[in-house]
Amino acid sequence: LPRRMVPVPTVPRPQWGNDDSNTIRVMQWNVLSQALGTNNDNFVACPEAALDWNVRRPLMLQELAAACPDIICLQEVDHYKFLETALSPLGYRGLWEPKPDSPCLYVQDNNGPDGCALLWRADKFTLVEEHRATLHVWRIPSNQVVLLAVLRHEATGRELCVATTHLKARAGALMSTMRNEQGRDLLRFVQAHAGGRPVLLAGDFNAEPSEPVYRTVLQHPALRLASAYSKDDGDLDDGGDGDGGDPVADSAQAEPAYTTWKVREEGEQCHTIDYIFYTRSAFSVSALLDLPTGEALGPGRAPSFRYPSDHFSLCADLRLRDPRPEPR
Ligand code: NDP
Ligand code: CA
Repeated sequence: LPRRMVPVPTVPRPQWGNDDSNTIRVMQWNVLSQALGTNNDNFVACPEAALDWNVRRPLMLQELAAACPDIICLQEVDHYKFLETALSPLGYRGLWEPKPDSPCLYVQDNNGPDGCALLWRADKFTLVEEHRATLHVWRIPSNQVVLLAVLRHEATGRELCVATTHLKARAGALMSTMRNEQGRDLLRFVQAHAGGRPVLLAGDFNAEPSEPVYRTVLQHPALRLASAYSKDDGDLDDGGDGDGGDPVADSAQAEPAYTTWKVREEGEQCHTIDYIFYTRSAFSVSALLDLPTGEALGPGRAPSFRYPSDHFSLCADLRLRDPRPEPR
């Protein structure tokens, strides 16, 4: 694949242990539901044959296998059985949580509901707890879910809280408010189950960094999260880059230019809406999978015969920081 893991130059040198065993590779990917991609999305510049499941399926597996993530967070999964079966020989175990009233069920030839999936390498992690919930908006259940696993990292014995979600889609002020309310409920849920453990929260938030939910996530007073793909160091404690400005705005400004890029009837849709958030004090980002350039994508953008989804997979190498206090 013409994408590579790019080292982050500013990361501090590891203070303890073997470098590799302390680094966890996390993937975030909205894989594009097969039912929605072929029936609902109306990708006007994508050849119909590129949406065929027999074409997309090997591309999806190739992308997952090539990245070799330790933890995989996926959305719009409407072929979980297939993924589980295909990834099991590669050493993955996983969970899946469907949406309560998936739009997939209303299209012809669907393969059941779509939902969030969370997979991990069984040689590196052991499942300790699993939790699922429907996200609420003003105490009313919505059609969006969160899937959470507490995983024990065998190399260090530390437990991590890993969660994934796919927030409400569509543009407009009401939808943006809904996403923010879902974000608040999501963070409540994550905090309740994290119990002080380091958190990894990856998903399709359907929200640009300028939306309220981005701020809601980064300003959560207890979870203290940062965004892996933001070039800003995410240190909100020192006022961000030290310019006395708004650290969340600095982080938003430093997000990539897009995580999804497609062509619909109304034109090109190029947005940053997918994120990998992590506990600031617990990890350093040591490398990131670069995003395909506009040139690599071509005029049809995605999906295509090379990229099976309209969203691009994100991959972050997160190095666990030493939990022990510095010796005096
Ligand atoms: P969302 O609004 O969250 O979106 C559902 C999916 O649609 C997402 O996977 C989203 O992808 C995709 N999507 C976003 N924008 C577009 C677009 N412009 N064109 C095509 N697809 C798009 O849906 P909810 O889960 O809240 O479910 C509501 C939907 O379910 C309704 O919109 C309806 O279509 C369907 N439904 C239909 C019923 C029926 O009787 N026919 C009954 C109940 C639900 P992404 O996140 O990648 O943007
Ligand atoms: Ca979609």
